[in-house]
Amino acid sequence: MIFNIKPYERDIFNLLSECAAELDVPAYVVGGYVRDRLLARDSKDMDIVCVGSGIELAKKLASKLRPRPRVTVYKRFGTAMLRHKDLEIEFVGARKESYRSDSRKPTVENGTLEDDQNRRDFTINALAVSLNERDFGTIIDPFNGLKHLEEKRLKTPLEPGKTFSDDPLRMMRGIRFASQLNFELDAETLASIKHNRNRISIISKERITTELNKIILSPLPSVGFKLLFDTGLLHLIFPEMANLYGVEVRNGKGHKDNFYHTLEVLDNISKHTDDLWLRWAAILHDIAKPPTKRFEPQHGWTFHGHEALGAAMVPRIFKKLKLPLDHKMKYVQKLVRLHLRPISLTKENITDSAIRRLLFDAGDDLEDLMTLCSADITSKNPKKVRRYLANYELVKERLIEVEEKDHLRNWQPPISGEMIMETFNIPPSRPVGDIKNAIREAILDGEIPNEFAAAKEFMMKKGEELGLMVDRV
Ligand code: ATP
Repeated sequence: MIFNIKPYERDIFNLLSECAAELDVPAYVVGGYVRDRLLARDSKDMDIVCVGSGIELAKKLASKLRPRPRVTVYKRFGTAMLRHKDLEIEFVGARKESYRSDSRKPTVENGTLEDDQNRRDFTINALAVSLNERDFGTIIDPFNGLKHLEEKRLKTPLEPGKTFSDDPLRMMRGIRFASQLNFELDAETLASIKHNRNRISIISKERITTELNKIILSPLPSVGFKLLFDTGLLHLIFPEMANLYGVEVRNGKGHKDNFYHTLEVLDNISKHTDDLWLRWAAILHDIAKPPTKRFEPQHGWTFHGHEALGAAMVPRIFKKLKLPLDHKMKYVQKLVRLHLRPISLTKENITDSAIRRLLFDAGDDLEDLMTLCSADITSKNPKKVRRYLANYELVKERLIEVEEKDHLRNWQPPISGEMIMETFNIPPSRPVGDIKNAIREAILDGEIPNEFAAAKEFMMKKGEELGLMVDRV
């Protein structure tokens, strides 16, 4: 295995070696940086452990770098950090940790490199590279991390029950690494996650969601979600998604398993976008299928209204998971609400009016909606897939055609509320809204063109119907 480092990183290691010798403290680069460099992955965070004061070592290195970086010291943790080029280098003294059962915050005392490696979560994260003159560049690998990197295996350095019970966040991290790196969790490690799953309750929602988002952003997110489901963690952290699992059969009629369908949609969309929120829309598009499921003897299983109820569930789910309650949530909500609309436009004899309404409702997010709809095609019959995709291409053509004619994306009303108030000399009131809505509906229905003159004439007519007088002053 090759330790793929860049020339300026090598310079840093040489300087660090000099500093460690001058301070007479053994120093090592450890953890994620070593793992990622051995896997030829990019990594900007470098962790340096020394058997002594990490803060002193950071200051010493800073004094030798040009331009001289600022050292940020976290006194309470005994750590320091500096930035050099695109690297963020963290310094910490080697430590030994002991845990109590009700917290993931350990009691910390100074320790040896071995103590420090023992407290790491996975063997591939416990590798250290010496920065000391006598064995510079040697990899110190007490738990066979190198072998596990080659085998693509995730295994805890110590007994997994202790590792996970001490800090249950490690269960989420393990599944995240499996998904991000496409590694396998060792059988004993996996069994221990199942066994310790309830311990996840002592971890904050924010930390859990950080790992969940990393799983969602991995190349094939279904790997992580299947592990979350199989270990029972998903039921605890995101029960709405676990509820999608299962097929009910009645009168010989079944429906698809919405959990596996959702994962297919998520994997499909992940081939086309790295946007976390579009991926979240894929996860949530069918989230209301379980609560809307009905059996109708004539038709079989139906999920009427799941798009509207799904959209209504989005804020609750975002709040519980401590996801942002801002425009990102609104975007996900909108895609969930609209995800069936393009399908309805693939039928024959679709009016321009229906097309205009989708342009109006989707606005800037129309392309993302179409990406979601294409990802939602999970038929195993390639002929059907081709036919559905071709139908969407026709819908896209119609959308472009109607948009060129009517300009309804990001539509701005041609007549403002101000103008309505001035024309009829009325204060802000119900009729102002009624007239505005009537103009919008008339444009969307194609009754009048999307133009000022036509809208003004329509406004006058509507005002008259409502018994309003024109202010001629
Ligand atoms: P990434 O950068 O992708 O988040 P990472 O492994 O570098 O992955 P960090 O959170 O930066 O993650 O942690 C750096 C190192 O610290 C890890 O490689 C691991 O050795 C150790 N570590 C981090 N979190 C834990 C934990 N909860 N339990 C044990 N060791 C941990």
